[in-house]
Amino acid sequence: MRDFPEPYRLADETMRGLNRRALRRVEAVEAKIRSGKFDELNLMTELDVLYETLDRDNRRALKKLYRERYEEIWIYLKGKPPEEDELDEMVELALTSLLGEVNPLTGYRYETEAIRKRDRAKEAILSSPTKAQKQIQMEKALRYWSAQTGFYVDIIADEAATRAMKDAGVQKVRWMIYGDDRVCGQCEALNGTVWEIEKLPEKPHLRCRCWLKPA
Ligand SMILES: [Zn+2]
Repeated sequence: MRDFPEPYRLADETMRGLNRRALRRVEAVEAKIRSGKFDELNLMTELDVLYETLDRDNRRALKKLYRERYEEIWIYLKGKPPEEDELDEMVELALTSLLGEVNPLTGYRYETEAIRKRDRAKEAILSSPTKAQKQIQMEKALRYWSAQTGFYVDIIADEAATRAMKDAGVQKVRWMIYGDDRVCGQCEALNGTVWEIEKLPEKPHLRCRCWLKPA
């Protein structure tokens, strides 16, 4: 039998793309700060726009990731792509709840946290007296944003995979460790165990890359 689709290939691709784009967007604002043409009000507006744009990039990419991960597993299990017209609505609904509800792994709502990150960044950047200090705060803000994005990229990849298996009629799945440096003792203990897909245990920690395949 063919190998189960590699668990985090699409997630890693998504993350690389988002990181590149976010860096470009932040650098554009940094260049304007360095040019010194900014008053406080301009900068505030610019940061609002930056965070709106970063959020839009994330949502678009996460939706695409969910869909592609769902599709690759469906195709693996069923040998043909899922019905196109039902898929759009399903992905839309899944994303709305994944980003709008408190996630058990992050402990927050994606949407609420994105706004918090924007507000904290604005405060830190606007209150930095020099351009150099503003720049340091911009870079920090980018790291925080990127960390949150990374959490959700993994979460979305996992959720899409589980959903595809459920929808395709898989009942039992096997817990697999990924073999990266984030495997912990709890992950190890779960390695190889079989679970009913409707009664899965919560992942032991954020960015845990343990994955599931049909048992
Ligand atoms: Zn794990």
